[in-house]
Amino acid sequence: MSDPTLPIAVAAPPQLLHYSTGSSDVHVGTVSPAGLLMTLLGGLGAAALAALVAFFWVVFRLPLSLIGSLGAQSLIVGGALFWLFKRFKLRGSAAGLVLGIVCGLASAFFFHYGLYVRNVYRSHAEWTAQIERAKAAGDLRINPAYADWIEKHPFAAFDQFVFPLTGHHGFLGYIQLRAPKLAGLGIIQAVLVASVATFMGKKAATRPVCRSCSEWLQPPIEVAVLSVALAEPLVTAIQSDDAAEILRIHHLPGPFLAGGRVIARLHFCKRCSLRYVDVIARAPTGSSPQLGLTVISKETLDALRFEYSEPATVQPVLSEQPTPVGNTSEGTPE
Ligand SMILES: [Zn+2]
Repeated sequence: MSDPTLPIAVAAPPQLLHYSTGSSDVHVGTVSPAGLLMTLLGGLGAAALAALVAFFWVVFRLPLSLIGSLGAQSLIVGGALFWLFKRFKLRGSAAGLVLGIVCGLASAFFFHYGLYVRNVYRSHAEWTAQIERAKAAGDLRINPAYADWIEKHPFAAFDQFVFPLTGHHGFLGYIQLRAPKLAGLGIIQAVLVASVATFMGKKAATRPVCRSCSEWLQPPIEVAVLSVALAEPLVTAIQSDDAAEILRIHHLPGPFLAGGRVIARLHFCKRCSLRYVDVIARAPTGSSPQLGLTVISKETLDALRFEYSEPATVQPVLSEQPTPVGNTSEGTPE
């Protein structure tokens, strides 16, 4: 077991190990087409509902009209996406990004479409009232057929007013007509709602999941903190699920935590009880993580959780088998 090439008391060159200072490589699973479709439909439904809430907020001039309606609209779409992603097990940041943008923009569109429809009917009510007054007054300039047509076709009548001014029909013409007033606000609304929806959707979609049962993994718990110099043997031992080797690493004399630390974290699956461990490094210089989520046995987890009774001495004892100290009754290798 004595191996003179072990990196004891050696400040391992960070660039060799690609130390990271944070996030870990996560398994977020694949996107199922059915889940994607259900989330999209649900997200669009939420977008319409949010637009309706914002619409009535503005129309009835509820308090904080602008901020309140925008906030409510953003939170409804974002919250719905967060729930839908969880419900339909949607995974992957790209899915979160795209659906967030689509549903956010859809909600902004629905809102303005609602205002367009409202404008059509308000204008229509005004015009028909004028026609009725003219008829009652016996105004002979009214063409009865045209008056009748206007009364029966509110949208087409609105178009007759919008098209000559903008060169566009319907909603497009209306938006163009109102653009000078609405452009800034509409863009803010679309960006805000889409951003909140994207942020919340991605948050749900990028949580690591169990490769076996697709359940979301529990939040990580730190189970071992070691000197960064021991990162390489630690990663190798976890990869080979070698409890004995991990115990041995725990007992290696070395510069504990000098120059940075390497942290093994447990991500537990509640449903199928699989234990995942990843290894991240917190060192002065950082790049990518040491080890992505790796399934380990209970023995290896126990070995990782082993704690020193006191810090190891700096004195290198390479030629001897390290003697475990402290709690070794459990998880002791063969
Ligand atoms: Zn599982």
